[in-house]
Amino acid sequence: MHRYDCQNLYMALHGWAMHEKESGVIKNIKLAARKPGQKTTIIDVNGIRVGEGLIIIAGPCSVETERQTIETAIAVKNAGAHMLRGGAFKPRTSPYAFQGLGLKGLKILDKARKETGLPVVTEVVDTRDVSWVGEYADVLQIGARNMQNFSLLREAGKSGKPILLKRGMYSTLEEWLNCAEYILAEGNPNVILCERGIRTFETYTRNTLDLSMIPAVKRESHLPILIDPSHGTGLLSFIEPMSLAAVAAGANGLEIEVHIDPASALSDKEQQLTVPMFESLMNKLRKLRAFMDEPEMSSALQENMDTPIEKSAAQKNDSQDPISPLPGAFSEAVD
Ligand code: PEP
Ligand code: MN
Repeated sequence: MHRYDCQNLYMALHGWAMHEKESGVIKNIKLAARKPGQKTTIIDVNGIRVGEGLIIIAGPCSVETERQTIETAIAVKNAGAHMLRGGAFKPRTSPYAFQGLGLKGLKILDKARKETGLPVVTEVVDTRDVSWVGEYADVLQIGARNMQNFSLLREAGKSGKPILLKRGMYSTLEEWLNCAEYILAEGNPNVILCERGIRTFETYTRNTLDLSMIPAVKRESHLPILIDPSHGTGLLSFIEPMSLAAVAAGANGLEIEVHIDPASALSDKEQQLTVPMFESLMNKLRKLRAFMDEPEMSSALQENMDTPIEKSAAQKNDSQDPISPLPGAFSEAVD
């Protein structure tokens, strides 16, 4: 081959490789795609800025009673959580398993919000329920089993509410981002992604928590990404190490199941943290984030974190709680 051709071939291959490495490989994504230099989108939920700092959503798998929900809400708030989770509509494998309290559960969540000030994240499972559930929820969760329920996605898009979109347990990143696209295409820019584990040949853990989705989502999309280590592992003692790993990898937040008395829980009793376990995890997360925010670490992690706004805020104010604090007296009550 002529030397000139070799050079051309090299340039062509090199250019192609560079192209593959640096630009999106996910097809058909328009609104969800991260454009070169684009920052992570911040989704404002009643003043809680998802996509900036580390956001912790915690609470029971299911809303069971007023006491259980409100006591859990107070406990997770005191430990530093930013939002309360709790299912009033439960998508269960068995039709005979507890299906959630429905409207009664939403009213309990409303009381818990009033009591604590925590915004409420709750799942919607039916297209017909989106608008009225949206009156009680601050964030509507679309669960793994409904990720590709396209009418539900469209309805969620029309609601304009912040949507927490879980990754389907059999879904690829491309399918997941296309589902986000359905919501965005309805004119709702408030989409938060949440990896919750996928089905693999491994049965030791409930699911295989795919933490590689953190850098993958950051490379392909500007939407914030949370990790749910509770459904992701299904094992109590795995939740802490996987939470720490997720934060080290640059997750924008975590969604964690916490119950005041897990043994009595009506769903997912084996994976719900007790309050002391959650408090201990929060203390470790706080220390990890403080370490990551140290100037040397912070610049080394620049690409992984991809939250320059957060970094400049942390640099401006050394005393800032490394886990984004709620405004007001609450942040002083922690630690
Ligand atoms: C949940 O978070 O309550 C839930 C049912 O999770 P997933 O949809 O990820 O299974
Ligand atoms: Mn659960």
